[in-house]
Amino acid sequence: MTERRHTKIEVLAVGSELLTPFHLDTNSLFLTRHLNRLGMQVSFKTVVGDKPDDLASCIRIASERSDLILIMGGLGPTQDDMTRETLAATMGKRLIFRETLWEQIQDRFRKRGISISEVNRKQAYVIEGSVPLENPNGTAPGSWLESGGRTFVLLPGPPREIQPMFLSLVLPRLQEKREGFQVRKTLKIAGLTESKTEDLISDLYPGIGPDIDLTVLASPGQIEVHLTAFSSLSEEAAKKKLTRPVEAMAERLGENIFTQAEEELEAVIGKLLRGNQYTLATAESCTGGLLSHRITNVPGSSAYFLEGVQSYSNQAKTRLLDVPASLLEKHGAVSPQVAAAMAENIRTNSGATFGLGITGIAGPTGGTEEKPVGLVYIALAGMGNTQTEKNLFLGDRETIKQRSTQKALDMLRRRLLRSLRDQREEE
Ligand code: ATP
Ligand code: MG
Repeated sequence: MTERRHTKIEVLAVGSELLTPFHLDTNSLFLTRHLNRLGMQVSFKTVVGDKPDDLASCIRIASERSDLILIMGGLGPTQDDMTRETLAATMGKRLIFRETLWEQIQDRFRKRGISISEVNRKQAYVIEGSVPLENPNGTAPGSWLESGGRTFVLLPGPPREIQPMFLSLVLPRLQEKREGFQVRKTLKIAGLTESKTEDLISDLYPGIGPDIDLTVLASPGQIEVHLTAFSSLSEEAAKKKLTRPVEAMAERLGENIFTQAEEELEAVIGKLLRGNQYTLATAESCTGGLLSHRITNVPGSSAYFLEGVQSYSNQAKTRLLDVPASLLEKHGAVSPQVAAAMAENIRTNSGATFGLGITGIAGPTGGTEEKPVGLVYIALAGMGNTQTEKNLFLGDRETIKQRSTQKALDMLRRRLLRSLRDQREEE
């Protein structure tokens, strides 16, 4: 039996700005995500500037080694937008003016009440033999060209144009090239290190089967276990392959997993607070507002987040949070006593169910032998008690801030889970 040859896929991002430190080719991430779901793997990604000669050489190389070539960017009306012209010239094709396209482009301008410029005329040219792909979100139409056994897809650069065009016009055309179904499950974990996570689950690895791909990703305060299954038959079949391994890992990791959905920790605590009609207030020192920033990144957070105080200096801790000057003097700003006072006082002042307080040394300076950089005290006050934790975080300033907020949110999450369990037991 001869095995079907995989479609070789290449993604080509065009734009000189993508070769500077200021812009990243993020469109290809979007494309690969959707191609992977069709069981299709991308073999090459190329980024090239706006120079037609350079682009032509990329197109020649791509057409020698790949079957499906997705080219994005440079379809606009300006001088430096040369992708359409360059592809035509490289493949030896003519450009043909399409009156209907020109009408559509003019119409778009009329609707927006602006006069059209002659430079837009070039967007009404299509490569001979290609199928134009309509662009409802911009003037640059895309195109689908089959030539010499290769398929070229031209797509606009702006994310808000390429995404809808790809989903509505390109993806359906790629279905016939699909090579299978890929499904991914992500277990997001807080409160465990990478090695501790591995310790808990690594003996399960041999049993998860050869067609499941497992990766463990670590970021400050968060571990993610990604399980990806593939089936040549159906999405259902791929999902089914994941069921048992996911269950086995979930059993081992228990409450360390904060979600199996693609969501952030702040969204998870949001749901827990909201579901119980609890409220929250925060008092931050070394995190400078990052905690309240993360909490308020969640739509609808006003339902449970009452206020956040940023009390960086000692005076602010006294003036805004009634932390006694004597307490600060006696134990220092970075101490369990001050963290607890911050959490308790913001809770009382705001009338919230829970108060979180963070005080620590984010570095790189300011550490001492007794109180090193990365020493962070976090306190959670509410429901009749205050829990204070001492942490020694590693990393640079930003990492320490991130880890501190992650830990604070996770303390709250675990407390909420505990109180829910207690409630259930009482009933
Ligand atoms: P326009 O009609 O807007 O000129 P275009 O198809 O010519 O469309 P470009 O000029 O190449 O597109 O890019 C327009 C903008 O789209 C860029 O400034 C950039 O912000 C964004 N962009 C382009 N390519 C990418 C990419 N690969 N990833 C992310 N953003 C991109
Ligand atoms: Mg452009």
